[in-house]
Amino acid sequence: MDYGTTNPDEVIKHARIDKTPTVKISHSDALRCKFELKDTTMDFANTLRRVMLAEIPTIAIDLVQIEENSSVLADEFIAHRLGLIPLNAEGVKKLKSSRDCDCDEYCDQCSVTLTLHAKCTGEENMQVVARDLVPAGDRLNDHIGTPVITDADGQGPLILKLRPGQEIKLTCIAKKGIAKEHAKWAPSAAIGYEYDPHNKFHHLDMWYEEDPKKEWPPSDYATWEDPPDETQPFQFDAEPTTFYFNVETAGPLAPETIATEAMEVMMMKLAGLVNELTAGEGGGGANGLQSPGFGGGGGDGWQDGYTTPSGFGAGGGGNQSSWGGGGGVTPYGTTPYGASGVPSW
Ligand SMILES: [Zn+2]
Repeated sequence: MDYGTTNPDEVIKHARIDKTPTVKISHSDALRCKFELKDTTMDFANTLRRVMLAEIPTIAIDLVQIEENSSVLADEFIAHRLGLIPLNAEGVKKLKSSRDCDCDEYCDQCSVTLTLHAKCTGEENMQVVARDLVPAGDRLNDHIGTPVITDADGQGPLILKLRPGQEIKLTCIAKKGIAKEHAKWAPSAAIGYEYDPHNKFHHLDMWYEEDPKKEWPPSDYATWEDPPDETQPFQFDAEPTTFYFNVETAGPLAPETIATEAMEVMMMKLAGLVNELTAGEGGGGANGLQSPGFGGGGGDGWQDGYTTPSGFGAGGGGNQSSWGGGGGVTPYGTTPYGASGVPSW
């Protein structure tokens, strides 16, 4: 099986487009990044969007140990709110995932500890905010795990309020994760792309009362592309090749970091896929990741590999059920009710 070149410039080139994709950044600040992705397909643009949304590791509070809580909110409610507070994810790549770590539950290598202790000693209600979460113990660097605070008062999101005399004391364990598992690990607030600002492909059906041009103001990107030539016939099989991305971060990672990390994640995923497909070549080879039932057909089978207790797949038999015999046999015979489909009663 030939999966072609491993040159990254070639790998992301699409068969239908004979050009290498390019990126042009039109705006970038601490919270937002806008860029144009050109000469690629909708499949690729959408994959990039989805990876940016859900598959970039960040850090979020995952365990909360509550020592004292005399506020009006239940422990679980507070724990949920704490999980959603954005934490700085600088250098999170070097943090181990708890699942891959040798420790029992968490340690300095796979988590960041934050503490919160507040008591309302005044006569007014007191606000407990993200700023009150204090990192404790050793950290990979001075930033990772620190709550992201972007408001002018420097307080961060509100966690809870305390009435006079009430107290909250807890320890939080923040762990590495991705938004595919839980949205609290999402690095971004919003990510989207638009294409075809002149609606040349007619992918949008713009409802209007009198004049669509007046009622649908043009996109910012309308000046980036030539308007449609009204004298030419409609190109029904044309496909979009230019996409205008808008990446907005919630604070854990810089927007341009989200975009570049997404490319890396995509490359790793594709490399993993190619590796698994290549490992299945030739049959019988046990060098790669293969399922026990893969069959392979190589003859030397799975005697040394992974087999189920019932001998499923042993000997490279291919499509056999775990109940013995050749294909399509149920535990009860040919059919659940007896041989050859003849009712046995
Ligand atoms: Zn650990």
